[in-house]
Amino acid sequence: MPQAGIYYWRNRLFSEIIVFVMPLGIIALIPGIYMAYITDLYRLIIVDLVAVAVVLIVAFAPGISVQIRKLLFILSLYFIALALLYDLGSFGPGLLYLLALTVLMILIFDKEYAYASVGLNVLVCIAGGIVVYYNLGDSQMYVDYDLDTWVAVSSNLVFLSAVLALLIPLLFDGLQKAMDSENVLQSELKQNQKRLEKSIRELNEKNEELESFAYTASHDLKEPLRMIHSFMGLLKMKYSDRLDEKAQEYIYYAVDGAERMTNLVNELLEYSRIGRLYANVEKVDVNNVMEDVCKFYAAEINKKNANIQFDNLPVIQAVPVSMKLLFQNLIGNALKYNSKDEVPVIVVNGREKEDEWEFSVQDNGIGIFPDSYEKIFQLFQRIHSSDYARGVGMGLAICKKIVEQHGGRIWVSSNPGKGSSFYFTILKNNQ
Ligand code: ADP
Repeated sequence: MPQAGIYYWRNRLFSEIIVFVMPLGIIALIPGIYMAYITDLYRLIIVDLVAVAVVLIVAFAPGISVQIRKLLFILSLYFIALALLYDLGSFGPGLLYLLALTVLMILIFDKEYAYASVGLNVLVCIAGGIVVYYNLGDSQMYVDYDLDTWVAVSSNLVFLSAVLALLIPLLFDGLQKAMDSENVLQSELKQNQKRLEKSIRELNEKNEELESFAYTASHDLKEPLRMIHSFMGLLKMKYSDRLDEKAQEYIYYAVDGAERMTNLVNELLEYSRIGRLYANVEKVDVNNVMEDVCKFYAAEINKKNANIQFDNLPVIQAVPVSMKLLFQNLIGNALKYNSKDEVPVIVVNGREKEDEWEFSVQDNGIGIFPDSYEKIFQLFQRIHSSDYARGVGMGLAICKKIVEQHGGRIWVSSNPGKGSSFYFTILKNNQ
């Protein structure tokens, strides 16, 4: 909600004063009237009652503007202050009331009226001086003050009211400016929030569109590929005796191309599924995941006599299918990009940190040069040619998407020719 302005707070303060002054005033009135009665100050009793009547009108009379209510209230209080000063002199709280009234006027009226309170106090000073000097009526002031002392006392009142009339509006101006700039900030924040929400909505829509496009495209693309693959197979089977070596070679490349395209389409489909179909976080024992991955690559592991080491890996909160895909891609790469002279040794570790788990998959393969550390995580980016190992350049992009879906990050460090270590983190409180 935007901050209400000073005007609102002035009115609010006024209504609070009325709410508190009424019951307190009525409570204070009873001993006041009693004291006035026993000291024969009947005039004060009448003044008190008139002031209470005015306060009641201010509080309850319908159809009066707030400004008029404020004026009536201030005048009735002035009336009491002057009566107290006149009848009780320095013994009564009249002067104190006048000062309090100045503050009240500055608080509940607009800035221009603040100076009016100083003017009123100057008038009170002059009127008091006349009463004291000429001994008008039966005022107690004549008994308590001579003209010099009255001028000294009342000029203090004027001086204090002037200082307050100058300083308090300054404070209010500052407050108003602070409120204004807060309002501006708040409305800017709201606008930015709206823009952000709109962008998120659009992004989600685009994502959904893109995912369903990838899904449909993958399915439609696979059909002709399947046909190329199977007809090439039939061609080879039925006419192999009539085909020369060159034709056999062409068929091999056509089948190979169709297979690679199928892999690409499959991985694209997998990529589009992350975070859409695979979204349920569960307890995942990473040891089990690694056992499944080893089973998946059993043939490759046997063929290369690979040594895969893992022990005591943690149980984490994650999407089970995604975890399998993640380790499968990293272990698959470690097996794929192995050094020709050595048997692959792959070590998987997991260690607990404050808010996350950190995993590493280390191999003794061909390694990666530092200038490719970032590039390899982008879609379709390969740094080793297909002659070396087959692939479509999506595996690490899939890993990155999975890790980010789990609130983590993935990076690599490598010693070219000696091996690579892939690291990634998974947030502990994954929802
Ligand atoms: P793909 O293996 O299908 O080419 P990836 O996204 O999995 O795609 O990997 C991208 C590239 O990163 C690979 O082409 C390869 O050059 C490099 N790479 C990935 N893993 C390793 C590894 N363990 N050792 C050396 N190079 C690697």
